[in-house]
Amino acid sequence: MTSKEKDFLERLTNEAGPSGYEDSVQEIWKKEVSKFCTNIKKDIHSNITATLNPQKDFSIMIVGHADEVGLIVNYIDDKGYLYFESIGGVDQSILGSQRARILTEKGIIEGVFGQKSLHLEEEKTRKIPKRHEVYIDIGAKDKKEASKHVMIGDPIIYGEDFKFLLGDYVSARCFDNRIGVFIVAEALRRLSTKKISSKIYGVSSVQEETGVWGARNAAYSLKPTIAIAIDVMASTDVPNVLKEAYGDFKLGDGPVIRRGVIANKKVTSKMIAVAKKKKHKYQIDIENGFFGTDADPISKVRGGIAVGGLEIPTRYLHSSREVLNLKDVDTAIELLTDIILEFDRNKKFLDIN
Ligand SMILES: [Zn+2]
Repeated sequence: MTSKEKDFLERLTNEAGPSGYEDSVQEIWKKEVSKFCTNIKKDIHSNITATLNPQKDFSIMIVGHADEVGLIVNYIDDKGYLYFESIGGVDQSILGSQRARILTEKGIIEGVFGQKSLHLEEEKTRKIPKRHEVYIDIGAKDKKEASKHVMIGDPIIYGEDFKFLLGDYVSARCFDNRIGVFIVAEALRRLSTKKISSKIYGVSSVQEETGVWGARNAAYSLKPTIAIAIDVMASTDVPNVLKEAYGDFKLGDGPVIRRGVIANKKVTSKMIAVAKKKKHKYQIDIENGFFGTDADPISKVRGGIAVGGLEIPTRYLHSSREVLNLKDVDTAIELLTDIILEFDRNKKFLDIN
């Protein structure tokens, strides 16, 4: 990965964008994509679509979601502590003592998720706190002071920004799914330099974590011939995970192609054939009627759309620091580009009769 690409990925992941509050992430994505694509549109919910060859009929949509999981302030107590509900699937047990950022209309307020010190524990058996036992301390002396800065309904993010680990490993709180919108942008950048006769929609969607809403709207409006959803999946190369239950997925072994019920069989076979032919590393995971990504609603809009899934194996999903390998990301960008070029060359492969 080039230093320019790393810089773009870092800017994407360091920006806060819980579901429903993706605008600042979308601005970064749009600014970068506008360097090689002139046809960029935003819809009412903030989905952004960048289109190459808008005049063509056969169309391929590649989509990642810009949003991340987060929280939302629902109560401020008399002492000025903030309480919250979740936006998407949040693991309460990892919040204690983490960094909190409250995204107010006037800017970001820093906070800390309060966690009772060991010094104050009468018994040494710590239990996972219930939802309402975790709170955020912003340093306010009481409710009146806290309310000057924070309003009920302000969204919150938790966890850390982009960091390099050893080798090609990196960590950040929201690779799910800034890595997806990054891959969509970089594949689009490569495709913009190729001679192709298909329309390519690169979509940065919204509100995936709270019900895959944005991609549904985008797919309905765009009506693509084929769509590939780019996301993350839980790798199993960590201690105490049963491969018998969750399969065998490692960081560094390449991106994951999904096979199963909803994934279009012809699309999936082509994706695998291209990976083999071009000698790209890849892994295969299943879906048994549910991807858990933007592929789900897209497959069901209008009369049905042929979908595929390409995912980056990632450790510690929805935690304060997710970990992945940049080599898998590089491979995913090259593979996705090659897959689209193959679809473009063989437009009739999906023909039903
Ligand atoms: Zn995701």
